[in-house]
Amino acid sequence: MQLPRTLFLERMRERGLRATPERITILGQASRMRGHFDAEALVSALRASGSRVSRATVYRTLSHLVSLGLLRRHAMPEGGARYERWAGRTPHEHLLCVQCGAMLEFVEDSLARLQDEVCRRYDFRPLTHSLQIRGVCRNCRRHGMGASA
Ligand SMILES: [Zn+2]
Ligand SMILES: [Zn+2]
Repeated sequence: MQLPRTLFLERMRERGLRATPERITILGQASRMRGHFDAEALVSALRASGSRVSRATVYRTLSHLVSLGLLRRHAMPEGGARYERWAGRTPHEHLLCVQCGAMLEFVEDSLARLQDEVCRRYDFRPLTHSLQIRGVCRNCRRHGMGASA
């Protein structure tokens, strides 16, 4: 699925951001990335497709795309971040393997209910949340790289 370009342009306008050709190119490439990718992977994909946008522009535009709600940013334990397309997708949580870096997605209705309940209890209006469980995946444990479990 492509990111809805018109929605993106509209939101950009609302924030006073110009829809420059570089930003449009980066948006298009970001929407074609699969899974959870880092900024360098996006830079490589742009280079591979013949684009010469600067690394700095890519990083700045990524943060715009996050604030516009089209991508989501995940902070990594070792620093840095990974991104994924978020607009138009089912909200989900993540299990992050600290050994191999795999990010597994899960949807858990009871978690959403619990979150609603907590917000009610504290009279809090939620805007967004993220849950990232860090640990060692089955594959890594099987190969003896992780903590025993
Ligand atoms: Zn793993
Ligand atoms: Zn995800």
